[in-house]
Formats: sequence, structure tokens, C-alpha cells
Amino acid sequence: MSVLIKGGLIVTSTGRYPADVFADGDKIKAIGTDLDNPADEVIDATGMYVLPGAIDPHTHLSMPFMGTYAQDDYQTGTIAGACGGVTTVVDFDLQQKGESLLEAIERKKSWAEGKTVVDYSLHPAVMDPRPEVIAEVKKAILDYGTPSFKIFMVYDFRVDDATMIKLLEETKKYGGLVQVHAENVHMIDHLNEVLAAEGKLEPYYHAVSRPNIAEEEAIARAAKMVEITGSRIYIVHLSSKEGLFKVKEARDHGIDVYAETCPQYLLLDEERYKEPDFNGAKYVMSPPLRTKESNEALWTGINSGDLQVLATDHCPFDFNGKKDMFGKDDYRKIPNGAPGIETLLMLAHSEGVAKGRISLERMVDIVSTGTARMFGLKDKGAVQVGKDADLVVFDPNQKFTITQSKLHMNVDYTPFEGTEITGMPSVVFSRGKRVAQWNGEQMDFVGEVGRGRFVKREPFEGF
Ligand SMILES: [Zn+2]
Repeated sequence: MSVLIKGGLIVTSTGRYPADVFADGDKIKAIGTDLDNPADEVIDATGMYVLPGAIDPHTHLSMPFMGTYAQDDYQTGTIAGACGGVTTVVDFDLQQKGESLLEAIERKKSWAEGKTVVDYSLHPAVMDPRPEVIAEVKKAILDYGTPSFKIFMVYDFRVDDATMIKLLEETKKYGGLVQVHAENVHMIDHLNEVLAAEGKLEPYYHAVSRPNIAEEEAIARAAKMVEITGSRIYIVHLSSKEGLFKVKEARDHGIDVYAETCPQYLLLDEERYKEPDFNGAKYVMSPPLRTKESNEALWTGINSGDLQVLATDHCPFDFNGKKDMFGKDDYRKIPNGAPGIETLLMLAHSEGVAKGRISLERMVDIVSTGTARMFGLKDKGAVQVGKDADLVVFDPNQKFTITQSKLHMNVDYTPFEGTEITGMPSVVFSRGKRVAQWNGEQMDFVGEVGRGRFVKREPFEGF
């Protein structure tokens, strides 16, 4: 199977230029002007961008959580991703009590096998940090192809500071990267008690219970652990202006703190929690939505380079039957999470590039090229000869109104319902094979279930 994409504008993280792209089998084989390689399929990309497929490094597919499961599995979740131009997913793999990291990886791989439609990898989450598990970090980095490790500073399955230090030491030695959900659990527990005593249990109080300062404190503490170990850390789903300031402060002192944010923290704010008829529950996620001031600060952080990656934290629960069943009378019981994998690229382009907040090149970096570098995906993340032919032929002028019924995620709502989009994928390729395409009104999945492969990632080499 070969494809020749003619007349498009190739976009990299540092520039753009008109050229044809020829892919044969899994790989990009040639880039140049007036290519005439014989191909099974020729695409006229006049007026279109040719982008590297987006990479979503923060998803929770089939994850058990708060008495239920995140609803997208490896099939529905990666189909939705493909339809949004996401051609690689790095999913979280939560270690269960008593499991080794390898057992956790094998368990989640068995759920993915035969189901994924684009390539995927896994970040083990260290939740049972026995000494032999800490010792296994070396193998996970060098042998298993999973050099990034999630830890939580919140929830029952959080790790303590001593474990964080041990993990920072081990990952420093072998080229690993610790990823942290940074919120101060004791501040949150305290505010939960105060709010409950006052009978304040509507969805809005979810945001009140997890203030900016809880993120700020945890990031500051994590940064100090990095400073004392000389290691590096990656803050997942950074949400607040204050948290960003702590990242910037550390980076200005030469401490290797990296961070991602997500479209919801750039575009939505805490007023959403006040929507009537329990609608606010749709936005119950942790960290919570913040204020417009934080929205604006995070865009600035993307442009300054203090934020390197845009991810989704895709973790969907139905509004009817999940969000309301558990938490109708108490925000503390509403499953935390929201859908997002399918809307990542369209929002980054429409709200970021088309509205002049970020450049096209910066977008490519935060949704693909930088993400590949951060997570050791050496065959992904750029339109370059020798890389996997994970490509999005993107029409920057195509209009679309986001609505749940035209999306593919296995959930009954989208937090971006009604958002008017400028710019949509026209055709999406995963390793040279067409997986999704625009049908005039919405995206269609046209790929093959089970073709996605597990990707072994390389150790961290600096960013
Ligand atoms: Zn998450």
C-alpha cells in the first residue's frame, strides 16, 4: 500500500514549506517537489496542511475509577482519536496491589490487543511502590519500552514524598521520566469536610474544594524533590496560573520541570459548574476548571515554552447514568473525568491557531513533535523521511460545529457542545493506511480494528 500526497503545505515545529509526500508501507519514503512515484493512491492536498498525526499522551481507556469504568475502551477510544487526527495514544496503566510493573503492562496490553486502530504505548502508574517495584523501574525503561511513570499526590492510591524521591533517583539513572498529578491531598480533604459540614455539595463546590493553591503547593513541593535529586519531572494536566508560575520559577532556576495542559483548562472556566439541571457535573474533573485568568496564563505558558505538551486527560463517563447516578447529591461522588481525545487537534487549531493565540508551528510542536520527544516515540511526531507515515491532511478552512452526535467517543456528551470549529482533518493516515476521513459533514472511521501496535519507547534524552 503506497500513497502520494500532492501539493500540500508541510508543517513542522519550526517552519512550513510546500512539498509532496510519498509513503510506502508503514513509512514516509520521500518528500520533495513534483514527486511522481507510482502510488496506489494519489491525494490532491492543494490548499491543505500536511501535519504529523497528533499524539495524545494522557488517556484513561477502560480505567476502573470511583466505582465505575472510564467508558472508552481501546477500540472506541482509538477510533475517536483517529477521527480527530490522533494517531498515537499513550495510555495510563494503573498498577494494582501486588502486581509487578510488567504484569500491569501485560494486563493492559491484553485489553488492547486486537482492538486498537492506531498505535499506542503505556505509562505505568506506580501505585504499589514495593522495593522490588522501585527496582523494576530500570527494566521498564530499558527493556519494556515504557520509560515514563505516573504517580499521584492525591487519592487513596497516592505515593508519599519518600517514594517520589526514590522514583526520581531511579529515573534519573536510566533515562526515565516521572509524571505527577500534583494537588495537595490534605488541603482538599480539609475543604471537603468544611463544605460538607456547611451542606455545600452541588457540583460547583468541586472547584471550591480543589483551589489553585492546592496545585501550586504540590508543584512547588515536587519541584523541590527534583532540585534535591537533580532529576526531572513532568506535571500532568496543569490547570492554574499559580501552578504555572511554580513551573516557570523552577525552570528559571535550571530545574527540569516540564508540564502539559489540556484544552479544557485553556478554554473552559469554573462558571460551567453553575450550569442548571446538574449540568455542572459534566465538568467535574481533577484538577477542576479554573478562572479566565488561568485560561489566559496557560496560553502564555504555551508560547513561552514553559508548557511543552497539549494532552486531553480523556476519561469519559456518561452524564446520564454515571455522573448523576453516583453524585446527584454530593459532588464528591461524581466520577472525575471528561471526554476529549477526538477534539484535541480541532480545538488546538481553531481556538489556538485560527484565533491567533499560537502559531501553526507551535501547535505542531505541542500536539505532536514535542510530545514524541518528551516520551521517546522516535518513529512518530514529524513529517520526515524514515518516520512512520502517521499523517493528517488538514483543511484549515473546513467548518464544523462540535456536537456529541457527530463524534465517536463512547459517551453521551462533550464539554465543547456547540463550539464552532475552523479547520478539520480531511484524511488521516496511520502507518500509511487511511483510518479516518471527512465525509462532508463529519469524520468517518475507515480503518481496521486491531491494526494498531504497541510501541516500545526510548529512554528520555533531554528536551
Ligand atoms: Zn488523567
